[in-house]
Amino acid sequence: MSSALALRLVDAPEAEALSSRPVGLEWTDEAVLAETTAIAEGPLSAAAAAIDHGAYPLDIMGQLGSAGALGVHLDRHGARIGLSLAAMQAASRSCGATGFLMWCHDVCGLYFEQSANPALAGAVLDDHVAGRTFGGTALSNPMKAFAGIEPILLRARRVPGGYRVSGMLPWVSHIGPGQYCGAIAGVLGAGEAISHEIMFLLRCDRAELRPCPQFSGMEGTSTWGVRLDEYFVGRDDLIADPARPFIGRIRGAFILLQCGMGLGVVEGSLDAMLSVEETLGHVNQFLDDRPDRIAAELAELRARVMRLAETPYDGATDYLIDVLDVRAQTSELAFRASQSALLHQGARGYMMSAPPQRRIREAHFVAIVTPAIKHLRWEMARLSREVLPSGAGTGGRA
Ligand SMILES: Cc1cc2nc3c(=O)[nH]c(=O)nc-3n(C[C@H](O)[C@H](O)[C@H](O)COP(=O)(O)OP(=O)(O)OC[C@H]3O[C@@H](n4cnc5c(N)ncnc54)[C@H](O)[C@@H]3O)c2cc1C
Repeated sequence: MSSALALRLVDAPEAEALSSRPVGLEWTDEAVLAETTAIAEGPLSAAAAAIDHGAYPLDIMGQLGSAGALGVHLDRHGARIGLSLAAMQAASRSCGATGFLMWCHDVCGLYFEQSANPALAGAVLDDHVAGRTFGGTALSNPMKAFAGIEPILLRARRVPGGYRVSGMLPWVSHIGPGQYCGAIAGVLGAGEAISHEIMFLLRCDRAELRPCPQFSGMEGTSTWGVRLDEYFVGRDDLIADPARPFIGRIRGAFILLQCGMGLGVVEGSLDAMLSVEETLGHVNQFLDDRPDRIAAELAELRARVMRLAETPYDGATDYLIDVLDVRAQTSELAFRASQSALLHQGARGYMMSAPPQRRIREAHFVAIVTPAIKHLRWEMARLSREVLPSGAGTGGRA
């Protein structure tokens, strides 16, 4: 018997025992953060430049999944949104693109769990959470459509047993053969008007994935155009019907979780500033946004984010405005920190391979990914008008 075969035979019952063991028993706060940090500072830090140039780090995502970094935000694992944010921040400190992949994966898991569809719970969700299967989210367009910014791009028609969906989304990340993502389509009713929307699990193997043009960053996020042509959605793949109340419920968590990515980019920029303090501090002292200032702002913003993470499903308008505000502040701080990192490093930071170069492109992505800064401000203005209707002398909620 070859030694490889012997090994497989010996390992088989062990592997079976492992896969039938409940997922997440060992995911204490300390263990998740320690393991995520070890992955971030080890293999992820070593791979960050390659990921920036297009390597899709599914192996590292698998490691992050088995460390618990992709599941602890879910109710079944203690609804530890703060811990999930901290894990995403630790990874993004080394690589913003991987932080974005974690966010895509996290919210996809949230869709599964919050759907209350038994076909999307159990082993399917366990595999997702543990990083044995992978999937993202195609919600940029519907989020903007619900805010009144643009029309919805996927259209569904009711058919026996479900819906047929057609349309094209220009970019969806963390997908590929065998993968999936959460998506939303407008249902066409009488007179071709949209009666309501459905949210469903889109399986990439039944969709057409089209290559995207080259981006200035996020090249390692496996981002594709997705075309659907009479794609069938059955009951087992329905996440929500209608979709709007569901989105209303998870919107706070969806937006808040993105802060982990931005806070990590700030922290990575801070590392870059500090790394040249000894050699260039005498002249860098004349720069604005020095490390002590960025560190203080980061700590304050992070504390605000963590406070909001304690009640992620708070449906109050004031709460949502606060979430939108910290998300926008995170983008703005990432801008300032990444620009300052480049100024602190000077020519060495201006090299194409230098981390501050990558940080600047990552910070710009944090600012344009939905909800983009302009979208956040649009929503804050709209909600503030609702809370304080013009002409209402006594104020109060509309
Ligand atoms: C690298 C990358 C990864 C992304 N990953 C995801 C993801 O995983 N899931 C997801 O839902 N969204 C994803 N997006 C989309 C992203 O969240 C934003 O929706 C997008 O950047 C545009 O947002 P905006 O508010 O700036 O729209 P605007 O720039 O104001 O654009 C308005 C509309 O025009 C569309 N548009 C603009 N330029 C083009 C173009 N060249 N071709 C086709 N349409 C165009 C935009 O998508 C948008 O809907 C990704 C975008 C990028 C660049």
